[in-house]
Amino acid sequence: MIIVPEHAIDGLLTEAECFGAVEQVFASMARRRAGNFPVVREAIGHADALYGFKSGFDRDSLALGLKAGGFWPGNAAKGLTNHQSTVFLFDADTGRCKAVVGGNLLTALRTAAACAISVRHLAREDARVLGMIGAGHQSAFQLRAALAQRPFDRVLAWNLHPGMFGRMEAVAREHGVPFEAVELDRLGAEADVIVTITSSFAAILKAAQVRPGTHVACMGTDTRGKQEVEAELLAAATVFTDEVAQSVSIGEAQHAVARGLLAADSIVEIGAVINGDHPGRISESEITVFDGTGVGLQDLAVAAVAVDRAVAKGLATEVDF
Ligand code: NAD
Repeated sequence: MIIVPEHAIDGLLTEAECFGAVEQVFASMARRRAGNFPVVREAIGHADALYGFKSGFDRDSLALGLKAGGFWPGNAAKGLTNHQSTVFLFDADTGRCKAVVGGNLLTALRTAAACAISVRHLAREDARVLGMIGAGHQSAFQLRAALAQRPFDRVLAWNLHPGMFGRMEAVAREHGVPFEAVELDRLGAEADVIVTITSSFAAILKAAQVRPGTHVACMGTDTRGKQEVEAELLAAATVFTDEVAQSVSIGEAQHAVARGLLAADSIVEIGAVINGDHPGRISESEITVFDGTGVGLQDLAVAAVAVDRAVAKGLATEVDF
């Protein structure tokens, strides 16, 4: 069995490798070659922790396994990350455990890759202004991956809590792209692509603030009750997602579907666009929304690449198991 510890993940995979791995598994999901199993997420009644599993199997890549972990709110005081996860990969032919891989950084990378895939496939080709809503841990990863998809010449950002823009400013500077913190009205009026990555439980971005032709990637809503954009925005848009079952239950679309503003069967899996079975954006004035809920197969896909790279670079530990 191979062990790839958390500290070995940094710098192990390129952004392009993450993008490719997640794109492949989204395509397999849409062809029904890959499927996610029901998610388990429970309050364990200790340390205020939320603990669970996301798992699945991809018959194309033979990635089989699970990501286990969750949220331990007291970790920051101990100098640890509150979100903790570990990926376990199994041999699809024998069921033997193949690898244990640190999952914290991989989660950020696979989430950024999903957002970037939506920008690549759904944003207008002439998109030049990128709007970011949210400025937490994930935001810098999302920004870096999104910037690679179009020749953006400006980043506009908004966050509820002030003083959090440092990490995104650094990424924008790295890319030589001007960065400006703005009010939401201006962000919506000028951005061609908007990424939301917050822990909000109420709509931040209103439908009236988004202009025709915008691509909106909603990446923060991954739990029942969370919400980042007004349900009316989804009603006015063509809605794409990683997985429809998650989109309507824990994703951004849960609110529009519950209010009867959006039919669940009108939501398109982005894998269908990747496979060429759905045209994606069909007009310059269409609003596209990507509801990125985060599926277990994304974790398995990037973890499998991490194992290959760690073995190739001599960074993996092999143990008899
Ligand atoms: P974080 O705690 O580092 O940052 C939270 C962000 O949300 C900050 O910008 C904060 O200002 C903002 N925020 C907090 N409460 C808010 C409120 N009530 N209204 C508006 N904004 C608010 O978190 P993070 O690691 O950056 O993750 C952001 C979100 O993304 C989380 O909700 C997380 O669960 C989600 N997430 C989704 C996926 C996925 O695959 N879709 C993957 C990882 C994380």
